[in-house]
Amino acid sequence: MSALAPGAVLGIVGGGQLGRMSAIAAARLGYRAHILTQDADGPAAQVAHALTLGRYDDHDALRRFADAVDVITFEFENISADGLDLLSSIRPVHPAGRILRISQDRIAEKTFMAEAGIPVAPWQAVHERADLDQAAEALGYPFILKTTRLGYDGKGQARIHDADGLDAAFDTLRPHPLVAEGMVHFACEISVMVARNAQGDVSTFDVTENRHSNGILDISLAPARIPPDLAAQARDLARRIAVALDLIGILGVEMFVDRDGSLRVNEIAPRPHNSGHWTMNAWPGDQFEMHVRAVTGLPLPPAIRHSDAVMTNLIGPDDMALWPRIMATPRLLAHHYGKAEARPGRKMGHVNVLFPQGGLPGEFGVEAALGPLAGTR
Ligand code: AMP
Repeated sequence: MSALAPGAVLGIVGGGQLGRMSAIAAARLGYRAHILTQDADGPAAQVAHALTLGRYDDHDALRRFADAVDVITFEFENISADGLDLLSSIRPVHPAGRILRISQDRIAEKTFMAEAGIPVAPWQAVHERADLDQAAEALGYPFILKTTRLGYDGKGQARIHDADGLDAAFDTLRPHPLVAEGMVHFACEISVMVARNAQGDVSTFDVTENRHSNGILDISLAPARIPPDLAAQARDLARRIAVALDLIGILGVEMFVDRDGSLRVNEIAPRPHNSGHWTMNAWPGDQFEMHVRAVTGLPLPPAIRHSDAVMTNLIGPDDMALWPRIMATPRLLAHHYGKAEARPGRKMGHVNVLFPQGGLPGEFGVEAALGPLAGTR
């Protein structure tokens, strides 16, 4: 495939912040972003060249959108199989629908990992109530029960501590089937962003260490504070996943570092990822440029970090009340998503703080570097 020429139109399904930052990166490279969204004033719409307003299951809207663009990508993965087939029948879709279908369904995802020889937590599919007893027996307590679809940011899962919790979890979590997963006693959670283009070039960013609060990513540190050989293993796992999927685009791979020193992949997201936002200031390009390059057939530069970085999300009204103070603190490199209303729990923006290479501070230093946000994490 030869690269799309400047002026070409990149179609992005989804109008949120990942679409916004992808559209900005596309514009930097001379492409025009055309967004499929229902929100004419959403984060991506505000910076786009053109919009198709419509639902992701509206075939007429999908057709009009595909006809208007040169290549299609996503910032939002939960589009139906039908919709994907329709889009792919009109224009190239990267990453391919096959990859989205794997990442949309935890059973398909774990089956793929097993086939590719990628380590994951022990798991069992739960189709009916009797399967759950069997899973409890095999995995031991506590274990985690998850929905297979539409789970994100820790939603759609329950931690089961004893047999008394089985019925309630089975009845509450919908739709079935579910996935039961053994608890990983992790030392930390990490992720790797990996990009691959049609020519087969692969580029992986440095490993990120992630901390969550209420199931939402709160702080990322780059590089992750793990031994170099483990970091190399994590990047190698991400590369193997990208190759096994025949990925064209960018993919986030979330992993656990088990206390026994081994890695287990938790899930994959075939799109830019919250845990890669530090790249916007600590790399000459960023994950969004890597994404756009991968799907438009441009060469992929090596992902060489020039600084260490801490990223924290700005969530809901409490964090946004600090916006004027954040703006008045020069070392906080802030990114606003343009959302009008700061509802509790809503991702409104993020902030990066840079440090010289090797200069990532300890807990207190990270806290202090966050200025007005210190003590609120
Ligand atoms: P998920 O929806 O799979 O991304 O899970 C959300 C969060 O729940 C993860 O980031 C972990 O903090 C925790 N979690 C999920 N699965 C496991 C597991 N098997 N063992 C321990 N913690 C888990």
